[in-house]
Amino acid sequence: MGNKRSVTAQKIRSRQRTVTRRRKTDALTELRAHPRVEIVDDEREMGNSVIVTLNRGWRFNDDGEHVFGEDTPEECLAAVKARVKPCTCQECKAAKRKVVCA
Ligand SMILES: [Zn+2]
Repeated sequence: MGNKRSVTAQKIRSRQRTVTRRRKTDALTELRAHPRVEIVDDEREMGNSVIVTLNRGWRFNDDGEHVFGEDTPEECLAAVKARVKPCTCQECKAAKRKVVCA
């Protein structure tokens, strides 16, 4: 009986730890849900960065720069919020035109 209870307590404790870990990766969730973001590829397990593909009509540093990478989702999110600007490259203009026509 006493043993069972301690196992349960351990389970609860490990579950709480999981929740805390999930809260830490919230930046990734927020990033994926961001209206300017199309795709997020978390390639950190492969030794790469977190790669963000922006939605049509948005760019990073220069016109036509629709993909960028940072070391962490937090950095990506900060970059999306602070550094992403409307894109007027040919591709985005064409995409916009297509939307208008449809
Ligand atoms: Zn563009």
